[in-house]
Amino acid sequence: MSPTVIVIGAGVAGASTAFALARRGVPVTIVDAALPGRATAAGAGIIQPWTSSAGGEFYRLYAGGAAYYGELLGRLAEVGVDDIGYRRAGSLVVSDSAAALDEVEARASARAADAPAMGELIRAGAGRARELFPPLAPHLAALLVSGGARVDGRALAAGLLAGALRRGAEVLAATARIVSGPGPWRIETDAGPLSADVVVVAAGAWTNGVLGPLGRRVGVEPQRGQITHLRVTADTRQWPTVLPLGGHYLLAFDDSRVVVGATRESGAGFDVRVTAAGQREVLENALRVAPGLADATIIETRVGLRPYPDAELPTVGELSGLGGLYVNAGFGAAGLTMGPSVGERLAAEIVGERAPGAALANVPGR
Ligand SMILES: Cc1cc2nc3c(=O)[nH]c(=O)nc-3n(C[C@H](O)[C@H](O)[C@H](O)COP(=O)(O)OP(=O)(O)OC[C@H]3O[C@@H](n4cnc5c(N)ncnc54)[C@H](O)[C@@H]3O)c2cc1C
Repeated sequence: MSPTVIVIGAGVAGASTAFALARRGVPVTIVDAALPGRATAAGAGIIQPWTSSAGGEFYRLYAGGAAYYGELLGRLAEVGVDDIGYRRAGSLVVSDSAAALDEVEARASARAADAPAMGELIRAGAGRARELFPPLAPHLAALLVSGGARVDGRALAAGLLAGALRRGAEVLAATARIVSGPGPWRIETDAGPLSADVVVVAAGAWTNGVLGPLGRRVGVEPQRGQITHLRVTADTRQWPTVLPLGGHYLLAFDDSRVVVGATRESGAGFDVRVTAAGQREVLENALRVAPGLADATIIETRVGLRPYPDAELPTVGELSGLGGLYVNAGFGAAGLTMGPSVGERLAAEIVGERAPGAALANVPGR
């Protein structure tokens, strides 16, 4: 018989897990407190792992996450969710150094055979790069990764939740606190008590706060990111994402919106303010790479707390000695890419379709 499951947290990690469980017919209740600073609501949404300098298991997860989007879109379409702000508009890695671009191209080329989702690698001179992303500085040349994509984190999480609801899940807007367990796990919420066979803690940067009453910790800390949304007058639908080597990134959404950022502030704790220094850093970086944005209108600056891992990998799996208590957190700067595929793997593990441990990674005591 399928277990009953409570998922704490409805960011990309929790919503992906809940959707994957609900699709399998598992009774799921998702509880989310809509905390200020939730990362999924602020994330940029660049899906382009293939030029990353990261290697090993992290790269495999990262590339696996990007490749999984095709399947995810199909699964969401099956439940009537058609728009998560996802578009494969390509990705430009930009630099004024041809040698630096050569190095990136060699790294990505070596991965191409195992990564069909990457598409083609095409060198673009400064003129061609500006045709693709008009505000770019005229001295920057580029490597175009044709399979690079972007996704709207808010639309993604909302789409996954809508999919879960259509497969019978329930969503509660409330703060959850673990009271006791296992057998069953008892949870207190402002909307009343809940109990289930399994709890998935997908509480992002707040994960250790949720685990606190159990006397357990995992290696996840908040890292603040400030990211600014600009309005331009151009049609931005086909603009690629822009990844400068060693600088902040830029990406566009369909509504003439260009998003620039982001700061990476470890040690800021749970402080979700937009700061003067953060705002200056983001705008200076953006205008250095894309001076053509100087006249854009500032719409808003979002602040997200990345659930930063203290090791290379996120923490995903069942905690030892706490039967039925799973963690799905610690995606750092890569959760919009990895979250959906990892949520799918974790759901398969919870229902016994995959061996314990197959969801992976970095779980203390496993
Ligand atoms: C500025 C910025 C840019 C980014 N850019 C990218 C990018 O380009 N590509 C990419 O792949 N990734 C990117 N990321 C990373 C990505 O956004 C995160 O890794 C991912 O969103 C983390 O998702 P999560 O579900 O683990 O956490 P969150 O989205 O923070 O969700 C955690 C949820 O738990 C809830 N919660 C916490 N405690 C409780 C409780 N006690 N009870 C109930 N609910 C609770 C919160 O309300 C929240 O909704 C970026 C992040 C930031 C901040």
